[in-house]
Amino acid sequence: MPVLERFLRYVRVDTRADDTSTSCPSSPGQLVLQQLLADELRALGLSDVELDGNGYLMATIPASAGAGDLAVIGLIAHVDTSPEMPGRGVAPIVHERWDGRDIVLPDDPSAVLRASEHPDLAAQIGHDIVTASGLTLLGADDKAGVAVIVEAAAQLMARPDVRHGAVRIGFTPDEEIGRGADRFDVARFGAAYAYTLDGGSVGELEFESFSADVMRVTYAGFNTHPGYAKGRMINAIRAAARFVDRLPVERLSPETTEGYEGFVHPYQVEASVDRTSVRVLLRDHVTANLRQQEALVRSLAGAVATETRTQATIEVTEQYRNMREVLDRHPEVLARARAAIRRAGLTPIERPIRGGTDGSRLSFMGLPCPNLFAGEHNFHSRLEWTSRQDLEAAVAVVIELARLP
Ligand SMILES: [Zn+2]
Repeated sequence: MPVLERFLRYVRVDTRADDTSTSCPSSPGQLVLQQLLADELRALGLSDVELDGNGYLMATIPASAGAGDLAVIGLIAHVDTSPEMPGRGVAPIVHERWDGRDIVLPDDPSAVLRASEHPDLAAQIGHDIVTASGLTLLGADDKAGVAVIVEAAAQLMARPDVRHGAVRIGFTPDEEIGRGADRFDVARFGAAYAYTLDGGSVGELEFESFSADVMRVTYAGFNTHPGYAKGRMINAIRAAARFVDRLPVERLSPETTEGYEGFVHPYQVEASVDRTSVRVLLRDHVTANLRQQEALVRSLAGAVATETRTQATIEVTEQYRNMREVLDRHPEVLARARAAIRRAGLTPIERPIRGGTDGSRLSFMGLPCPNLFAGEHNFHSRLEWTSRQDLEAAVAVVIELARLP
C-alpha cells in the first residue's frame, strides 16, 4: 500500500490531545488509532507488537538473516494532534500535480494556501499536495511520521534480500501536550539510539533543541471591598502587570529573536486582586544561559514586589534540555542520519529547533534521539499540508537508515 494511502487513513481518526485530561493517553481517539496500527503491524509480520495500558505502541522489524549483530535502532512518531485546532472530521484533499495556483480550502474559502506566502510550497509545483478541507488541521504532524514508519516497515518486511539490523518502532501518545516521553519505557524499547520522524522539509535533520525551564511568579496582595479599600487594598493584578511590562521586549522576547537567540516569554496569567501568577518560559540553546534569564526575572519580580508592597514567590521547573549535549557524545547517531539522507539522493539540512521535541527528553532518558523530516508544513494550522513526494522521500531515508551497517 502506498505511503499516501496509509497517511490518508490515519488522519481521519480524531486523535486530538486534551491537556485538561489527566489520563494517559489524554483522549480515547489515540487508542483507536494505536489499535488500528497494532493490527497493521501484526498483519505486516512485525514481532513483539505490544500496545501498553498507557497507549504506547512498540514493535520490532526483525533483523534480516545474518544481520542480528548490527546495532538496534529505533524509529518514533506521535499519534496525537495539537489541541490548538479541531481534529475531528478531517477530510484530506489530494491536489494532484499541483499547478502552482492558490489552493482554496472548500469548507472555508478564507483559508487559502498561496505559493507567494509559502516558499516551501512554491518549491513543490507538480507534486501531489495534501491539505485538509478548511475547518480542521490536517494532522501531518505527526501522522506523516507514522505513515512513513509503517510504510518503511512494510517495504523492509517484503524484501528479505535487503540486509538490515533490527529496528524498534515506538508510536507515542500526547507529544503535543508535552507528555509523550513521560511513560516511554526506554529499557523495554531496547534500541541503542532512535530518530523521531516529526520534521518538515525534505532533508531536514534536527539535533539542537532549546533548553527550557518555566518560572511561575506569584504576587500576593490584599483584597477588601473596593468601596472601602482606601489605604488598605493591595492589588496583585497591578503588581503582575507592572512586572510583565518590565520584561524585555526589544530583545530576549519571542517577537524579536530567531536562530540561536533565546528568550523570556510571559505566556499565561491567572489573576485576582488577592493573588496573581504569571508563567514565564525561559528558552536558550545554551543551558547555562537559563540561569542568567532566571536571575533577570527574579530581580525584576523582586523590585516590583518592593515597589507595590506585595509578596512575590517564585518557582522554577525544569522542562527539557538541548539534546545536543547528549548527541555530542554519540557522533555515530548523526553520522548515520546524514549518510542515510545522502544515500536517498538528498542533501542534509541542519538547523536548530526553537522548541523541544520528545527526543530532547528521550535523549536525557538514555535514548539519543534527533529528529528527521517527515514532510510536515504549517503545523498546528488549518493550512497544514504535506505532499506524496515528501512522504516518499522520508520512506527512502528510513530504509537507508535501517540498511546502513
Ligand atoms: Zn509533532
